[in-house]
Formats: sequence, structure tokens, C-alpha cells
Amino acid sequence: MSAPAIELLAIGDELLLGETLDTNSRWIAHRLARAGIRIAQTTTVGDEVGRIRTALAAALARSGTVVCTGGLGPTIDDVTRHAVAELYGRRIVIDEAWIDVLRERYRVRGIPMPEINRVQGELPEGARALPNPRGTAPAIVIDDPAIGMTVLLPGVPSEMRGFMDDVVVELLRERLGARSPILIRLLRTAGLSEAALADSVADLVHDTSPVSVAFLPHTAGVDLRLSCDGGDADARRRLEQLLVELRDRVGTAVYAEDDSDLAAVVGELLRARGLTLAVAESCTAGMLGKRLTDAAGASAWLLGGFIVYADAAKRDLLGVEAELLAEHGAVSEACARAMARGARRRVATDVGLSITGIAGPGGGSAEKPVGTTWIGIDTAAAAAARRFVFPGDRAEVRERATQAALDLLRRTLLRD
Ligand code: ATP
Ligand code: MG
Repeated sequence: MSAPAIELLAIGDELLLGETLDTNSRWIAHRLARAGIRIAQTTTVGDEVGRIRTALAAALARSGTVVCTGGLGPTIDDVTRHAVAELYGRRIVIDEAWIDVLRERYRVRGIPMPEINRVQGELPEGARALPNPRGTAPAIVIDDPAIGMTVLLPGVPSEMRGFMDDVVVELLRERLGARSPILIRLLRTAGLSEAALADSVADLVHDTSPVSVAFLPHTAGVDLRLSCDGGDADARRRLEQLLVELRDRVGTAVYAEDDSDLAAVVGELLRARGLTLAVAESCTAGMLGKRLTDAAGASAWLLGGFIVYADAAKRDLLGVEAELLAEHGAVSEACARAMARGARRRVATDVGLSITGIAGPGGGSAEKPVGTTWIGIDTAAAAAARRFVFPGDRAEVRERATQAALDLLRRTLLRD
């Protein structure tokens, strides 16, 4: 797909210091992809006139159109306007109309406008200021046929998003003559490694042109992303056909065909079947309960749960027998089963779901290495437990354990 491309320039010392994650570039990339505009390159620089000018000049030379975020504030460290004015060889002028708007806003609130805000009216001569309904810094658009077009947006994410949605996406589409948005479809899978998934669909994804297929692994599983030029009817047909073939091949490992969370999918299955759930968590200590209640309305099927970190709590709260714990240990099939059964009985639900594992970094052994986790499930009809050894650090092991528990529950519900 060769859609027209622009570049992004994220500006701010805090981005280079690791204090702020550059979520602006991510959001803009996502937004523009759906509008049929490709991003050829993204650059990050600090609040330094020379660096901003050099990076912007290079980006304009490569791509002709650049969207910058950050450094438009009123304080001394916000220098983006000056760097841009230098690059375009323009003087800085003051947009008095915008200063009047700001002064009026302060008047309404009954406080005098701090003089420092006059900076917010500064812009390179000949540039266009776009009024900011959500903040004090206007966006600035500057265009010179010999240099290219630069759009300056405030760094504050909500203000940046407002400008993108209100004007900038349309402005870019007009400038680039972007024809049609990219069509993106998702198949979310759980319970398969990236390699296993790739292996099982190798022949289907061998040559998918004009459709692109990407494997996106993360702790929640592997997503398959299919995309194509949304304006190309043949490509769209090929994409839909491929989607069906992949779904059939991957089978029950597919839990969603949009960006739904696995917990929401499981919740919907419980609701549809009129079943109730109780959870018992050791190493995840509430993560499963949190995931299950992220979506509103969970009280219809999640009745309660237990955080049973110590053996004593597993005994006292869930009735896991002391002899069982002494013989098998807390991270064992027997304990996972007893925890699921205990949760189900004590809360009087249809289903009990348990997690007990070694999240690390300490506590592992040759027999039970870090990452070893047992997930148990207990229903009126059946009881089962599965062993996993999850890779990753403590946080990843806990996330993977939570996801595996949700997936075991999903697969159990689908079978019944
Ligand atoms: P304003 O003058 O409207 O406050 P600004 O253009 O001066 O905006 P900055 O001072 O650079 O913006 O940043 C304002 C806030 O936005 C800060 O909290 C900063 O951490 C955040 N921010 C800046 N750039 C980004 C980015 N790329 N991704 C996410 N957050 C960002
Ligand atoms: Mg800044």
C-alpha cells in the first residue's frame, strides 16, 4: 500500500527523559492510518531551537508535510515557534485577536490575564493560527512551497486530539489527496504462541497481496491484523475472504474479531448462559477480578472473589486442606482445583476459577521454575486444572496468568 506519507515530530525534553510516554505520536498514527494517510517516519527531539530546526528541516526535505506536537506553552522552555520561524525565515509577530480571546476568557473568570500569556499569541509571520477551544495555545499552520507545510499542535493530548479531529485530518487529506481510508480488521487469539499461530496459517498468509497481514504478539495473546486500501473493492473482497479462511483455520483460539478484551468476551458468554462466577487468586492477587469488572454490568455474573496469598488464607477462606498444601504445595494441580471448588462453594456460584503460581523473581525451583502456574476451574459438571510455565518478568507472568485463566474459562463455556 503506498498511501501518501507525512512525518511526525514529537517535541519535549520530558519525552527524552522518559518521564512522558509519547502517546501523541501513537494516537496520531492510529488516527491517520484510518484516514488513509501514512506516516513515513517519526522523530523525537528535546526543547532546543537548533535540534528542532534541524530535525524539522530534514523531515520536510524527505516528506514535505510534518505534524509537530509540544513546546507551544507560554514558558521559557517552549521554543517550537521560534525554531519554526527561523527555519522558514520569518519574523515572530503577535496575533492580537487571539490575545483578545484569552483576555476575555480571563475576564469571565474574574482574574487578570498573566502577561506571560502574550507568548501564546506569537506566531511566524504569514502563518495561520487555529483557535484552541480547549486551551491557551493555538495550533499553527505554516506553508511555503519551497520548504513544505508544518502543523504545530500543543503537546497536551486532549488539545492535540481536538485539533486533529476538528481540522487537521481534513487539512492533511486535502493536501495529500488521500483517496480512501485503510481498512483494518483484527482477529484476536489467545492460547497460541506467535510461532504456533504462524505455523498453522503459513500457507494462507504466504502471498496475500494486496492485503497485508501482520502478527502482533503481546501478553494478552497474538492479534492477526489484516489491512488493505479501503477504496479498492478487489482488495476488500480478498481481505474478507482471507478473514474467513484464517478464522476457520485458527478455530477456537480466536476470541474476538474487533478490539474487544478477552474479559469482556468471557463476561458476555456468562451472561448469555445465565451463569455466575467466583474467583480465587493467589499470585495475581486481584488482577483477574479487576479485568472481569473493567466493563460495567459485571455484577450480573461475577458474584465475588478471594485474594488468598498465604497458605493460611487458602485454608481459612477457601477450605483448602492443610494436608493437601503440605503434600503438594500451593502451586499444584490439587491446590488449584481445591481453590476453584472452594470459591464456587463459598460464594454459591455456577463456576469457580482459580490461579496459583510463582510470579518471581524469587521462589522458583528446578521442579517448579518461576512462571509455573496452575489454573483451576470448577463447575457442577466438571473440574479441571491446567499447568503453564509463563515466560517474562513478574508483571508479565501475572498478566499472562490472568489471560490464561480467562481463556480457560472461555473455552470451558464454549464446550458446554
Ligand atoms: P500548552 O501550552 O497548551 O500547555 P505545549 O505545547 O506547551 O502545550 P508541552 O508543554 O510540551 O505542550 O506539554 C504539555 C503536556 O503534554 C505535558 O504534560 C506533556 O508531558 C504532555 N505531552 C507533550 N508531548 C506529549 C506527547 N508526545 N505524548 C504525550 N504527552 C505529551
Ligand atoms: Mg514541552
